[in-house]
Amino acid sequence: LAKDRGKNNFQFYHPQLNSLSLRKMELETALRKAIEQESFTIHYQPQVDLKTGMIVGVEALLRWVHPTHGFISPGEFIPLAEETGLIVPLGKWVLQEACRQNKQWRDAGLSDIPVSINISVRQMQEEDFIECVERVVQELGVIPSCVELEITESIIQNIDESLLILNQLKELGFKLSIDDFGTGYSSLSYLKHLPIDKIKIDKSFVDDIVEDSSGGAIVKTIIDMGTNLNFTVIAEGIETEDQQQFLIQNGCELGQGYLFSRPLPLQEVKELLRQGIVHNKIIQ
Ligand code: C2E
Ligand code: MG
Ligand code: MG
Ligand code: MG
Repeated sequence: LAKDRGKNNFQFYHPQLNSLSLRKMELETALRKAIEQESFTIHYQPQVDLKTGMIVGVEALLRWVHPTHGFISPGEFIPLAEETGLIVPLGKWVLQEACRQNKQWRDAGLSDIPVSINISVRQMQEEDFIECVERVVQELGVIPSCVELEITESIIQNIDESLLILNQLKELGFKLSIDDFGTGYSSLSYLKHLPIDKIKIDKSFVDDIVEDSSGGAIVKTIIDMGTNLNFTVIAEGIETEDQQQFLIQNGCELGQGYLFSRPLPLQEVKELLRQGIVHNKIIQ
């Protein structure tokens, strides 16, 4: 009996029967198929001038609706795509699609704002990454300065190689930003060597602004440092007017968050771009 139970236990805990890894395997298969069939969509979240609500940019955010599991958060499938290398074709699709939209908006006279696109380190380290980005932009006739590439601080794990790539992108005219700033391997000494235009203060710091005074002090310090190094500073994940007020008072000009707009499907963001401004929650 004990032997039987032991056997059962063994089988139950076998990693391949673990429901988490089952879901993972299933998702990986579905992810491959979805990439082949291009069954993803992109939502766009406005980036605004905190005082006026003028839209100064949009961030492209990948969306995936699984045929049976429904909506799957990028927080779940992006790490999986990175782990399996599928982020390379997937990232290329996002780049193409977001650039195509940007070009269309410009041609239609709708808007000439830039689009921000998230780039995984894994994707950036592909040998032909630069070539790929260059080709996409040339073929579509997009202006590189209207394309902002968002990378995370994890690039500094490989600082020499990353610097080469970033410098090339910069020379081609792309805008570069550091996403989730403050959550990674922040070292102030590397920052000034990076050819970046913008830092995005991570939501976790913005959340803490009104919670306690040290949270506010950290955000203030990031804003001051970024400004002093001549970076554009934008705050992510703004949900309340208190946060908006604090950011404005401390010299942060740009923001992004549910307070202004959630990431929107294409048709809705086009409507907003036509207006050029988010009207709610604007400081009088
Ligand atoms: P991220 O690039 O830092 O994007 C910001 C995330 O915060 C988005 O989540 C956005 O929907 C969410 N957000 C914006 N404002 C608010 C707010 O006020 N409150 C809250 N609670 N959330 C807010 P999302 O779309 O789920 O994406 C999560 C992450 O997945 C992104 O973080 C990015 O790292 C990654 N990701 C998304 N699309 C792509 C992509 O095309 N390529 C790559 N490599 N990564 C992507
Ligand atoms: Mg981002
Ligand atoms: Mg972020
Ligand atoms: Mg993130």
